[in-house]
Amino acid sequence: MIKKINTVTVAVLLIAVLITGLAAFQTISRYSRESDQLYLQTAGKTIQQLILDGHEPEAAAIRTQTIFNQESIPVRVTIITGDGQVLYDNEADSATMDNHLFREEIALALRSRDSGFAIRRSDTLDLEMIYVARYIPDLDMVVRTSMQVYHSRQALNSMALTILLVMLITFAVLILLSSLVTRHLARPLKQLTVAAREMAAGQYSSRIHLLAQDNSEVAVLGAAFNRMAEQLEQTINDLADRNERLDVIFNTITDPLLVIGPSSSVTFMNRRARELFGRDLDPDKAVYPLVFITHNQASEDLVEEAIRDNRSVHAELRLNTVTGKATFQAIATPIRASNADSAMITLHDVTELDKVQQMRSEFVANVTHELKTPLTSIRGFVETLRAGAVQKPEVADRFLEFIDLEAERLHQLIHDILVLSEIERNQQEQNYQDFDLFTQVDAVLVLLDDAAANAQVALRADEPDAPLMVKADPDRIKQLLINLVDNAIKYNHPGGSVHIQAERQADDMVRIAVQDTGDGIAAEHLERVFERFYRIDKSRSRELGGTGLGLSIVKHIAQLYSGYAKVNSKPGVGSVFEVFLKI
Ligand code: ADP
Repeated sequence: MIKKINTVTVAVLLIAVLITGLAAFQTISRYSRESDQLYLQTAGKTIQQLILDGHEPEAAAIRTQTIFNQESIPVRVTIITGDGQVLYDNEADSATMDNHLFREEIALALRSRDSGFAIRRSDTLDLEMIYVARYIPDLDMVVRTSMQVYHSRQALNSMALTILLVMLITFAVLILLSSLVTRHLARPLKQLTVAAREMAAGQYSSRIHLLAQDNSEVAVLGAAFNRMAEQLEQTINDLADRNERLDVIFNTITDPLLVIGPSSSVTFMNRRARELFGRDLDPDKAVYPLVFITHNQASEDLVEEAIRDNRSVHAELRLNTVTGKATFQAIATPIRASNADSAMITLHDVTELDKVQQMRSEFVANVTHELKTPLTSIRGFVETLRAGAVQKPEVADRFLEFIDLEAERLHQLIHDILVLSEIERNQQEQNYQDFDLFTQVDAVLVLLDDAAANAQVALRADEPDAPLMVKADPDRIKQLLINLVDNAIKYNHPGGSVHIQAERQADDMVRIAVQDTGDGIAAEHLERVFERFYRIDKSRSRELGGTGLGLSIVKHIAQLYSGYAKVNSKPGVGSVFEVFLKI
């Protein structure tokens, strides 16, 4: 803009200075010609006067020349008769000069009977000359004075040089002044441009500095700009505030939330959604279709259904997350306010709930199955007794023994289930007591002494130097010890042994280890023996009165005391079951 103004100003000034210069030059050259004419006329008049005063024309000419030559511009004088004959010329021989009747200036003077003027090349001198001829009617004579154009031009040239110089100086001064004025006038415009540019770049606090006394249009524009900038800044700050608040709200929501725009593209993801799907979505940079994020077409279908039917719809979706597949209760809601094609989808993780549900139904199925087996046997024996076996006392006795055994198994199973569900229900131990762990070890040794003797297995426990005081529910610890030692006896060989250790460790955990010399467990089962109803050899376990819940109870008791259980085993050599408890 300023550049344009500058260019135009320079052009205008240049033209103005040129026109002024040319006009000046023309005026001066006209004036110069007129003054030359006047000079020659004066010379002519002087000669005329001298002649009329009685001087000889030649003498009059010479005398006048002497006066005028002092002016440093030599004047040529020619005196011609009324019929054109040259009487006298100071620069050439008049006798040899041709008739001058038709010389332009002479013809003019004769015709007007006054004076004539001409500029032309002299035939006699072969020079560019200015002629002024003066007719003297009394003597029928023409006095012609002339001078070289060269003299006049020389003066004019030096004047032209001066004019040019003045023009240049004027031009330079004008340019300087105009650029100063332009700069002064353009300063607020420049400020306006800079401020507008800064604002476009996001610096909304940018303002124009206004002078109080300035009432120009630019100043009014600047004030309007400042007002607009203030309003814009206020609006943008308000919007940013609202945005921030919304961001905080959305990011505080613990469930993933996504907003889906046209063509199923995700336009917003809250923090949880970004973490869950491992994508730092910036809708300004990239637009992802929903399916690209969830890897499940059903999620897009749900959103489409919500938009199409204009109502909230929900479904259970299994989606890929950074931690693997997870099940979500998804709710898609159309967003009507801004864009009919938008919808919001919230996802509530129900994976754990799903798992618990599944485990529960598996457990119920297992329990039902486990309960059914002894009940079926009991019913079978009762049927047989009813069918007549009751009449045969020795058979009836054996059958009643079987019934008793199955009932005992049922009792044990129900007992274990109750223990397990009680531990699960009360995640926090209630009944804390201080006691010596070895008193419980001794009690278990006494309790299982018969069973060990029957199996011909030697039971041995570490002899403690001092009591091992713990704080826990003694019944739970006893249950844990019974389950481990009972297994160590059951899955042992006659002549085998069981060794029970208990000690407090450096990290303040109590370690209980039950080592046996029994069957051992193959590596592939090691991970699973602590699962409910998991048995390596089902019929052997049943035969030995097992329920498949013993080790699961051990694991749960350990967890109750912020601990864990593990097993090391070598098939054919034996196993070591270790439990670590914070007691
Ligand atoms: P069960 O009532 O069948 O003994 P548990 O939960 O106590 O159920 O044990 C699960 C399975 O782990 C057992 O069926 C058995 O196959 C294996 N097991 C447990 N303890 C031992 C052990 N000391 N030696 C070898 N196998 C064992």
